Amino acid sequence: MKSKQIKLKYLIMGVAMAAFFLTGIGSVWSGYRMNVASIKENTLETNRVYAQKLATTASSYLEESFQILGYSASTIKTKMHDNNALIQETERLKNQNNMFNSVLITNAQGLVLSISPPSVEVQGEVLTSVGAKEALSKREPLVSKPYKGMTGRLLIFISYPIFSETNEYLGMVAGTIYLKERNVFNDLLGEHYYHDGSYVYVVDSDGRVIYHQDPSRVNDIAIDNKVVQAVVSGKNGAQQVLNTRGVEMLAGYSNVPLTGWGVVAQRPLNVALAPSFDRVQYVAIKSIPLMLISIFIVLWMAARIANPLQQLATLTEESMESKNVEGLKSVRSWYFEAHYLKSALIRSLTFLQGQVSYFKDQSTTDPLTGVTNRRTMDAMLAEWLENDLPHALILLDLDHFKSVNDTYGHAVGDKVLQFLAKNMKAVARKGDVCCRYGGEEFVMLLPTTTAEEAAQVAEQLRDILTHTISPCGRPVTLSAGVAVYPQMADTTEKLIEAADGALYLAKQAGRNRVIVAEQEKIKK
Ligand code: GH3
Ligand code: MG
Ligand code: MG
Repeated sequence: MKSKQIKLKYLIMGVAMAAFFLTGIGSVWSGYRMNVASIKENTLETNRVYAQKLATTASSYLEESFQILGYSASTIKTKMHDNNALIQETERLKNQNNMFNSVLITNAQGLVLSISPPSVEVQGEVLTSVGAKEALSKREPLVSKPYKGMTGRLLIFISYPIFSETNEYLGMVAGTIYLKERNVFNDLLGEHYYHDGSYVYVVDSDGRVIYHQDPSRVNDIAIDNKVVQAVVSGKNGAQQVLNTRGVEMLAGYSNVPLTGWGVVAQRPLNVALAPSFDRVQYVAIKSIPLMLISIFIVLWMAARIANPLQQLATLTEESMESKNVEGLKSVRSWYFEAHYLKSALIRSLTFLQGQVSYFKDQSTTDPLTGVTNRRTMDAMLAEWLENDLPHALILLDLDHFKSVNDTYGHAVGDKVLQFLAKNMKAVARKGDVCCRYGGEEFVMLLPTTTAEEAAQVAEQLRDILTHTISPCGRPVTLSAGVAVYPQMADTTEKLIEAADGALYLAKQAGRNRVIVAEQEKIKK
């Protein structure tokens, strides 16, 4: 059956699949969101703690630097004129601790008395750099801002004043950190942390980068960065931030109070989230077999649900034609609605078929006698003729029926007609059709029957009547004419005419007899 409506099977499949996919995608998505949130939180916390740890390390380093330089200042304050002693001291400071890229001692005017490693440009010169000048004028332990030294290097200058026993300013002992070269920060801040995309950088109090894993970034001004702004204003914490290169970062930051520096430990957001994204892909791939199985189950279930309905629909049409509901009864209606529908269909079809056959009988049979009516008889004869089916016809008429009516009443007459019909049916063989031709005249149609055989049937009936008490209290008799197609007539009309002729002869000959047309055989 073709129709524009969607098939129930596909409807169920569609709804089930939609529910399945929406739930699946929804749960994977919410899982992913939760995962992302927890990764962000964890990464921020890790970086916050790490930045804090590194800030503490940097603080310790600076304090230790002051201690070492301070101790040195107190040991050399009496040897400021002993060149060898000064050389030895700078050598010792440089090599012993590996904290500085270079170490130098100046006098009160900033003249370099000794430097390690030896440098032609600096030895014997007066320091004029901002850092050195500030230290000379302030005469206190200082950590300079980054600046370009006499050798052209970008450096930080950590100095400690030298005072004599009488508190006279003698000069300073200082260590430098070459920012663009391998320096103590590399050792302190560690390189072990970078494999997972995380890295650390340090800014001074102006937001200028003084340490970065990428040396080219050193000396960049990063004050536009929100995290840098926060950390140089003395804050510690963690947040997601867009860095100066437009990359989303999960950054932890911590301030170094001694110098106002800020340490930032951070990890690119996309690097941090990559495992989560991989996880989604993994889950998606892993769930393919489950999905296929589910699809299969859905298809199967949809078919199972739709099948009984489909079968009920087709079988209902069929059973209307075949007039039996056995097919419908065999449908496996395994769920409530189908079962309910099936019972309802069987009930209504059975009822309907009863109604139909009642009306059909009504239209084909004679209401008084229950034999086939004249209209149907005509139709049958026409069909037999059409198919050229050989057949015999017996036309029979009750003898003196008028007097039965007159004597016993019309109602008894009717009973006699019913009595005759009953006996006609009794002698009829399989395939023979008994009809009421009109009034008290009846016809028997006998397919593929010879005149002799038909005469025998008529004779049998005649014989029964003569020996049987009818409803009027005595036997009634009949006369009959027999004719056969195609031997005696080539149309139904002529056939009936022939039988009628024979009947007439039977009446003429004294009634209660059977005559075959033409042969005019009289049987008594
Ligand atoms: P015959 O031997 O020549 O056939 O005599 P008959 O009296 O039978 O004469 P006819 O065949 O002419 O009469 C038929 C009668 O049958 C007339 C009518 O009153 C009666 N008859 C016809 N149809 C019915 C019926 O349905 N019921 C009853 N009770 N009588 C009927
Ligand atoms: Mg008659
Ligand atoms: Mg009659």
